[in-house]
Amino acid sequence: MRIDELYKTRKPGISFEIFPPKRDSYLKDIEPVVEILADLKPDYISITFGAGGSVADNRTMDIARLIKDKYHVEPMVHMTCLNYSRDEIDVVAREMEEYGIENVLALRGDRREGFPEKKDFRYANELTEYLVSKGHDFCIAGGCYPEGHLECPDKKTDIVNLKKKVDAGDTLLISQLFFDNGFFYDFVSRARETGIGVTITPGIMPVINRAMIERMTPTCGASLPPRFRKIMERYGDNKDALFDAGMSYLVSQAVDLMASGSEGIHLYSMNRADVARRLVDSLKNLV
Ligand code: FAD
Repeated sequence: MRIDELYKTRKPGISFEIFPPKRDSYLKDIEPVVEILADLKPDYISITFGAGGSVADNRTMDIARLIKDKYHVEPMVHMTCLNYSRDEIDVVAREMEEYGIENVLALRGDRREGFPEKKDFRYANELTEYLVSKGHDFCIAGGCYPEGHLECPDKKTDIVNLKKKVDAGDTLLISQLFFDNGFFYDFVSRARETGIGVTITPGIMPVINRAMIERMTPTCGASLPPRFRKIMERYGDNKDALFDAGMSYLVSQAVDLMASGSEGIHLYSMNRADVARRLVDSLKNLV
């Protein structure tokens, strides 16, 4: 089912993002995670796509099929366009149709050394436009950036660019992770003022791995609030303590978002089923 259609009949709930494991046994590696995530009854599970990989070796699609066919949860495949031609995008879109996968997160992808860019797409709105022009009946989602995308000179221009994606056909937006909800609330009100009316789901991630946070935050533009830094400083080298403190931070972020009327919660699960389960358990009586 298309996620945007689902959201017309009921409020957005929880969704998870996972990534394809690198090993050749990726399907076997990810299945125990998918099994637990599916049991938590999410609206959908999205699967990242490594920009620059071959469309013929599409682990994202394989995992999406597993999620849909065996676990009966809606998958959303991520699709990046900077490194692909229209013909390559056609291959992936045809596969989606063949396998009955109706949800796609249309992204530009990051510029990366060693991954040559092709000329057909420069921005995500062009990918959305292209998918719509080909007549695919997909729910097309887009990425958005509460603190502004790193390449954009200012937040106002970023929102103007975001609207191009919605005007092109994105019917759902999923945010980049953030650790300070204030950025998200401010972003949503600016988006609404600009005439963006589609569902905007906040994306949040647990602070349970110091090395990962240090690696990711400079590339995704999320700033680290003082309360967050304190946790990292005090518990960064103690795995179990960091897990407890990080989960508590994540839950308090999610509770604040829900109390503020947030349109769902998208958990960057990092393939950690234990994190997803603890979050869902903590929110089970909240509506
Ligand atoms: P765009 O919307 O194209 O924006 C990129 C930049 O260009 C922004 O600065 C924007 O302001 C500007 N811009 C946009 N449109 C125009 C225009 N028409 N004219 C001028 N300027 C414009 N990356 C992966 O490789 N794989 C993944 O699976 C993946 N999943 C993600 C999931 C989510 C929820 C999010 C938020 C990001 C994800 N990313 C992923 C990262 C994403 O690919 C990068 O952030 C990338 O740098 C931007 O992608 P985008 O689709 O937001 O780009």
